[in-house]
Amino acid sequence: MTSQRTRDRLINRLREQGIADEAVLNVMREMPRHIFIDEALSHRAYEDTALPIGYNQTISQPYIVAKMTELLLAAGPLERVLEVGTGSGYQTAILAKLVGQLYSVERIRPLQEKARQRLQLLKIRNVQLKHSDGGMGWPEKAPFDGILAACAPEEVPEELKQQLKVGGRLIIPVGGSRGQQLKLVVRESEDSFTTEVLEAVKFVPLLSGVVR
Ligand code: SAH
Repeated sequence: MTSQRTRDRLINRLREQGIADEAVLNVMREMPRHIFIDEALSHRAYEDTALPIGYNQTISQPYIVAKMTELLLAAGPLERVLEVGTGSGYQTAILAKLVGQLYSVERIRPLQEKARQRLQLLKIRNVQLKHSDGGMGWPEKAPFDGILAACAPEEVPEELKQQLKVGGRLIIPVGGSRGQQLKLVVRESEDSFTTEVLEAVKFVPLLSGVVR
């Protein structure tokens, strides 16, 4: 179930769905998604679906991980990137292979600790994790070339926009239980932003505060 053939099948499926960035597809082909999931579910690791990771959270669907990564990188390579919602660490691991330095925040401590172990196991070293409310971004590490959120606020948080460099890109699902849309916000200048609405998505909500 975790064989290379099973993984290749997933990559073919992503291609069929329009993912075209070869660097992204290669990293996803190599990434062992089963280590980010509890053993009881690991036989489903290479299905293109979100799966539970405990604490009412899910590991993201591979298609959406690929899509968001591709969109984030679409204007060229990125050096400093912030991720909001580490979760299992799956998206974190993929991003880390494609950007210079990655900063990732998670509000649920036990999830963060598991993600840390998995990143160590994979010998991924260009990631710093922080246990905090990512709606505030990570001001000490800002500004960022890119920000990717894996949880949905009702509105794009102003803090995240302000932590983008000029030219920086923010990919974020936005909206409540009545529906969410994936948005791309680009900081065109110090005080102007453009927002593009990309597609309908379904993410867990961005919640405030932290869980120990
Ligand atoms: N890409 C991750 C998705 C995890 S689900 C994966 O593939 O595993 C989204 C995560 O966002 C959850 O772990 C949730 O706890 C976290 N989250 C929600 N609100 C947050 C906030 N305000 N700050 C940081 N993390 C948050």
